[in-house]
Amino acid sequence: MKDVYLSIGTNMGERYENLQLAVALLKEDENIEVVRISSVYETAAVGYTDQADFLNIAVHLKTAVSSAEMLKICQSVEQELGRVREFRWGPRIIDLDILLYNHENIETESLIVPHPRMYERAFVLVPLVEITPSPLCEQLQQAHELLQQMDCENEGVTLWGPFNKSSTVS
Ligand code: ATP
Ligand code: CA
Ligand code: CA
Repeated sequence: MKDVYLSIGTNMGERYENLQLAVALLKEDENIEVVRISSVYETAAVGYTDQADFLNIAVHLKTAVSSAEMLKICQSVEQELGRVREFRWGPRIIDLDILLYNHENIETESLIVPHPRMYERAFVLVPLVEITPSPLCEQLQQAHELLQQMDCENEGVTLWGPFNKSSTVS
C-alpha cells in the first residue's frame, strides 16, 4: 500500500459540503482507504485575489493504485462535483491535488509529485502538518520546517472548524 497525501480546496457554493462530498467519493472507492483528515482551514485567495475565500483540508490515504490512476480518481471526483475548468487559479467548486505519493519523485507530462507549489503555500502546509505530527519522510520533514519559517497569520490561514462537525476532537 502506498501512502498518499492530498490537498482539497473549494471556494464556490456550499464549501463545507463540497469537502464532505469529495471525501465521501474517495471513501466509496474500494481501492482507497482514508486514514486521516485534517481540520478545515480558511484562507483568502492568493494569486487571482478577486474571488471568495477558500476552505482547505489535507487527507492521508492508503492505496494500491498507481500515481497516474490516483490523478484520474482525483479528476473524476472533481468532475462528479461539477467542476468546470474556466481558468487556472480561478474560483472552483473543488480541487484535488496530489501532494505526496509514496514519498516518490514523479515527473510526467500530467503529474508532478511532490506538488510543485506545495512548499510555498501555507494553506497546503498547515493542514498537512496537522495530520503528520511525526513526519517520517524527507518531504514531510521539509513541510514541517518550511511551515515553521512562515508567518501563518500573515499568510491568512485560520482554523475554520473540525472536518467532522459531530466529533469532539478537532
Ligand atoms: P496548482 O497546480 O497551482 O494548484 P490548479 O490546482 O488550479 O493549480 P488545475 O487546473 O487543477 O491546477 O490542474 C492543472 C493540471 O495540473 C492538471 O491537469 C494535472 O494534470 C496537473 N498536475 C500536475 N501535477 C499534479 C499534482 N501533483 N496533482 C494534481 N494535478 C497535477
Ligand atoms: Ca491546486
Ligand atoms: Ca489541481
